[in-house]
Amino acid sequence: MPMNQFNYFQPTEIRFGCGRLVEVGEVTARFGKRCLVVTTPAFPALKTAVKRAAKSLKDAGVSVAYFDGVVPNPTTDSITRGAKAARKAKSDVILGIGGGSSMDTAKAIAVEASHSGTSWDYRWCSKTQPTASTLPVIAVTTTSGTGSQVTQVAVITNTAKRDKSAICNSAVYPKAAIVDPELVASTPEHVTASTGFDALTHAFEALLHPSCSPYVQMLGEEAIRLVVNNLPSAVRNGHNLGARISMAWADTLAGLCIANAGVTLPHGMGMAIGGMYPQISHGEALAITYPRFADFTWRTAVPRFAALSRVLNPNLVRTSDTDAAGKCAAEIDRFLTRIGMRVHLSDFDVPRDELPALIDQCLILPD
Ligand code: NAD
Repeated sequence: MPMNQFNYFQPTEIRFGCGRLVEVGEVTARFGKRCLVVTTPAFPALKTAVKRAAKSLKDAGVSVAYFDGVVPNPTTDSITRGAKAARKAKSDVILGIGGGSSMDTAKAIAVEASHSGTSWDYRWCSKTQPTASTLPVIAVTTTSGTGSQVTQVAVITNTAKRDKSAICNSAVYPKAAIVDPELVASTPEHVTASTGFDALTHAFEALLHPSCSPYVQMLGEEAIRLVVNNLPSAVRNGHNLGARISMAWADTLAGLCIANAGVTLPHGMGMAIGGMYPQISHGEALAITYPRFADFTWRTAVPRFAALSRVLNPNLVRTSDTDAAGKCAAEIDRFLTRIGMRVHLSDFDVPRDELPALIDQCLILPD
């Protein structure tokens, strides 16, 4: 049978490996001379990485201004503050250093600082889209999960509307991504678990997606295998560099998957949860939905759910596809328990009487 047609696009230069942070100045200098470094308020682990990045930038002749107002589940307000900082410093390149929140804030600032209106006006569902005048973005990831360093996506939250959405446009693909697994070693247990589970979901949902291609399938299956085999070790011992390297690669592969296929139901629900309850991290929102999502959906994609079950539990290798797929929810439950992520809405003080509104939010299509 002839292979179906498919596209695969990846414009980001990926510099992967321990110690690569030192190259950030040389890479950035190719795109601009005045860099806005976008990150969270200083804390010891990240402060050192930011200092090293700034030295590398200055050594390469790039001047540095800082915006350290990144918040988890980045808000449009914080992005507007960052865009003002970029304009004030006349920045011509934006460097996001941190987890998905820092990289996405950098992307959204790159749009808002170079266009009229705010980042919210440039969401994937808007008529107005970012243009080629979007400032170039360099991404340095310090978590292993979102894949944002290689995607055309910036997830943003409008606090006033209690709504989480995303810019999704080729203009925000980072020009270069530094994936230095040493930077991730300091992520605490819970952040490691929640971000690492996010990577698994990206790979799995891309495999379920109608746009999945043989290329994405190859990357996604490898990403899932790496997460299942390494995330529990990375959670138990954050300084296990082998596990951190494997997770950094899984994260990058899974990012390439979502950039070229997309995500499915759990991410839609996760966005609704994160929009209404910003105290729930993206990985937690996914962990809340996943077992029930698997229960609800496995019959529609038996081979995919069976394959996931068998990676999670190799003892199912001789079980029929239908039986293995039917056990997927239980296997996901077990994996979440192993990494300390078996969480529910009730763990996050979500008022029971708001559940109908949350369900409505999961169901609405953007205007
Ligand atoms: P995050 O960036 O919010 O970071 C989580 C916490 O870990 C923060 O407190 C951060 O300061 C801390 N941290 C980061 N690096 C650390 C390190 N090396 N050592 C110690 N602490 C560290 O979390 P995240 O999961 O990486 O990103 C979540 C955001 O990314 C969400 O808004 C989510 O919607 C978005 N996202 C984006 C994409 C995309 O393609 N753009 C994909 C998935 C998720």
